[in-house]
Amino acid sequence: MNTEEIASIKQLLFTKKKIVIVPHKNPDGDAVGSTLALYHYLIKSNHDAVVIVPNDFPEFLKWLPGENSIIRYDAQTETCNSLINAADIIFTLDFNAFHRTGNMEPVLTESKGLKIMIDHHQAPDDYATYMFSDVAMSSTCEMVYHFIDMLEDTGKIDATIATCLYVGIMTDTGSFRFKSTTSTTHKIVAELIDKGANNTEIHNNVYDTNGYERLQLLGCALNNLKVIPEYKTAYISLSQEELHRFNYKKGDTEGVVNYGLSLNNVVLAAIFIEDKQEGIIKISLRSKGNFSVNELSRTHFNGGGHTNAAGGKSYESLNNTIEKFISILPSYNKALNDE
Ligand code: 5GP
Ligand code: MN
Repeated sequence: MNTEEIASIKQLLFTKKKIVIVPHKNPDGDAVGSTLALYHYLIKSNHDAVVIVPNDFPEFLKWLPGENSIIRYDAQTETCNSLINAADIIFTLDFNAFHRTGNMEPVLTESKGLKIMIDHHQAPDDYATYMFSDVAMSSTCEMVYHFIDMLEDTGKIDATIATCLYVGIMTDTGSFRFKSTTSTTHKIVAELIDKGANNTEIHNNVYDTNGYERLQLLGCALNNLKVIPEYKTAYISLSQEELHRFNYKKGDTEGVVNYGLSLNNVVLAAIFIEDKQEGIIKISLRSKGNFSVNELSRTHFNGGGHTNAAGGKSYESLNNTIEKFISILPSYNKALNDE
């Protein structure tokens, strides 16, 4: 963002505005953390702000300050449509194409409110008046910090805002270990702790509140893990029946794909999760080094994301999807074995 754009946004936010903040469908820690952090910041700056999520988010995020003020589009569609149509400004966070919001796509496309994008995914669509898009950023939460900093307003960051921002930086960086974690990320995180984010408590709330069944489901997933050594690839599948057996709740499979990548000599890891209700196989892909799962997902699985973490979907059966995945590996032979 250049100084002129920042000056315009400052000017815009100088008077009270009706603001809607939206993350992507199936919001994760970064999506919920960044939208709530911005929400608290805007409320503190006397705006009329609301967070609208396309659908539900994981239990392990249902302690974040302000989470009970979030409105679900799938549950209160009419209310949400009115809010979106009346909004002066719509912030879109942690995604960069309207189709990533699922059923919210039409109302967002039609809406007249000025759009501000804050996002770190590749290949942004061109819908925003102001676009803060940077693929080098660890997380949208880190970008919201920079956004507030650009507005010369970090003084407003209190323990509540710091907590929300910490959650997204922690979850999107795999607890500060992914390549996108920079010294700047750590400096910001240090400041968030100084401002009152309780790092131990936050980590505990997100990662150490598993139910017994979630661990049993993880056990099932690990049992299903397959390795294809010649392509340095590992994949896991979970059928609807298996999810049902372990009383699957939203968020229960978050992070499971990373176990495949933790194997020695594995460069590409995938998980295929059957969702009979949506009629899709949800795919998560992770990689090491320069192997781009963003490219693989865009080309073959209707998705995208980052170089080392991407998602996608398939409309075929679980078995056919896995077969397709295995069948495309030879075309990536060199890239996989060069890593
Ligand atoms: P996950 O595998 O955790 O669902 O997603 C990994 C990354 O890819 C996240 O940054 C997520 O926002 C992005 N992602 C997940 N699914 C999709 C998709 O269908 N399309 C695009 N463009 N990105 C996705
Ligand atoms: Mn993110």
